[in-house]
Amino acid sequence: MAWSGAAQTTGQRGRVVILGFDGVAPAIIDEMLECGELPNLSALRKQGQYERLRSTIPPQSPTAWSTFATCTNPGAHGVFDFLRRDPKTYLPGVGFGQAHHAQLATDGSVAKPARFETVRTGTPFWSTADAHGARCKILSMPFCFPPDPLKHGRMFSSLGVPDIRGTTSMFFWMSDAFSSSDLQQSLSGGMRLPLTFSGSKATVKVPGARDITKTRAAYMEVPIDIIVDRKAHRVTLDVQGQHAELGVHQWSDWFVWTFPVSAQFTVQAISRFYVLEAAEHVHVYMNCLQFHPDEPYITFTTPKEYSRELRERYGLYKTIGWVFDTHALRQDALTEDAFLEDVEQTMSWRQRLTLDEMAQADWDLLVSVFTATDRVAHLFWHYRDPGHPLYDEEKARAYGRALENAYVKMDTIVGEVMHRLAEKDLLLVISDHGFNSFRRGFNVNTWLIREGYLAVTGQSDPQSAFNEEAYLRGYDWKRTRAYALGLGSIYLNLTGREGQGIVSPEDAEPLMEELRGKLKGVKDPQTQEFAIKDIYTRNVYKGASMTHAPDLELGYTFNYQSTKSTVKGAAPREVFEPNMDKWSGDHVASDVEISSGILFANQKLAPDPAIIDLGSTVLDYLGIPIPDWHEGKSLV
Ligand SMILES: [Zn+2]
Repeated sequence: MAWSGAAQTTGQRGRVVILGFDGVAPAIIDEMLECGELPNLSALRKQGQYERLRSTIPPQSPTAWSTFATCTNPGAHGVFDFLRRDPKTYLPGVGFGQAHHAQLATDGSVAKPARFETVRTGTPFWSTADAHGARCKILSMPFCFPPDPLKHGRMFSSLGVPDIRGTTSMFFWMSDAFSSSDLQQSLSGGMRLPLTFSGSKATVKVPGARDITKTRAAYMEVPIDIIVDRKAHRVTLDVQGQHAELGVHQWSDWFVWTFPVSAQFTVQAISRFYVLEAAEHVHVYMNCLQFHPDEPYITFTTPKEYSRELRERYGLYKTIGWVFDTHALRQDALTEDAFLEDVEQTMSWRQRLTLDEMAQADWDLLVSVFTATDRVAHLFWHYRDPGHPLYDEEKARAYGRALENAYVKMDTIVGEVMHRLAEKDLLLVISDHGFNSFRRGFNVNTWLIREGYLAVTGQSDPQSAFNEEAYLRGYDWKRTRAYALGLGSIYLNLTGREGQGIVSPEDAEPLMEELRGKLKGVKDPQTQEFAIKDIYTRNVYKGASMTHAPDLELGYTFNYQSTKSTVKGAAPREVFEPNMDKWSGDHVASDVEISSGILFANQKLAPDPAIIDLGSTVLDYLGIPIPDWHEGKSLV
């Protein structure tokens, strides 16, 4: 294939392809390279190089991919964590953006379409490239939503794109086996729908699109008929005239849902089913209601028509950003096998998209990101770590190499792309961060209470006080100097910034240092290990988004992370607890020094690469001047 340069750039050395694989653990890659299990990556290393790629502080996806896109530190782009708080009210919100539902005029037509408001600021390097005439294809890009306008290219946003309810992903679990206690228990990221069979048929209403004719949160409901043949272990599903008959352990094809919100406004969604059981009891899983690519509730591609074009090319496809059903697997609404089957299908779909777009030869920069590597590591780590509290020898035999299998698939994709490169093309294979085991959880707020920095309303003894209320409710702010929210962030209760702050700005630095010193010495009484490798102060960040910077950011050592309770701002009784969640591998608040990702290149690059350097590297290779706000360096 002959290389064709962009019309308006001079000094272009060739085209650039970046394949992003979220959260690849370099130590496992090293072992697999050693054993010859990754032939294409091995060839790539020989041809160019293989290095650790330095991540961000913290090394988590929203932060790292935002740094990748904007070539700036989090103090500039504003994405520090999955969660952030409003300092005035202490109310938590999503750390990367928020969906806003459509608004109707009195006649039922749309007055204001649904939209997504991102908190990220800054200019992605592909927008700079586009302004210089380069043709960019940015595919399945995490945490870059809404998609950027591109004059000469196309973009397909991924992570960050919500479901039609406006959530990250809300699954549905339908069964006749739910007891009243099941129904009282809430699911994280999902909903139970009890089935009542009359003979072989049950009908249940699925709450889908937001009913924006009502002021309170209500959802439009569409019924689904479920007909079971318990002897043959088969289920027939019927939704708005579409039928499918499924055996157990089988994924359905896509169903289209139509929610008539008003006479003039209809929301369409798509979903798939998986039958878990059709015998004594019936268990049917349905993934979240995703945007229909022909008429998406919120545009997620550039140009807008690109989402329909992809449907015409491939049929219906996943449009949700949180593309894998992690919540369902964690809570046993889905099995490991069903999850892995979906991983294989989703990776193959993105592989096809990448290769087809590459083959069109109408581009100068092609970026394509795969997130399966991260999700499999999060959920299958306990099968590969005999020291994990959830380790199960028998299941480890079945799933202990699930992650290696995902890496083999990654290697295949890399190989297919390598075959299609032109002579002068630069190929980078990257991951945004690495991975560690998550065996033990640290309750940061409980520790802050025990050390006298955080006070609970109505409880005066710091040695016994606790607070199980989520979202920073129940604390006595007049007696509080520091609090934790999110995956690794600690905030001071600062006067002038926090609504009820008591720490004066001149006391802030000494207090940060005091906390830093004490946290470094925190030992888990059960293992006698130090839990925290390093703690970073807000001074590691700089830029226009500092209002949302944490005052302290934890850098855990191997095996440790903040507990789920900490993430939500609560403080259970114990300072440490075993991690009994299938979410068993993690990186989100690991120290950056032990959380590097990978960088493979087909050419020799400068040493000590960091994720912040990649945008500058691309522009340099394309012969485009590097803007002065870029904080990284070119590696070519
Ligand atoms: Zn990531």
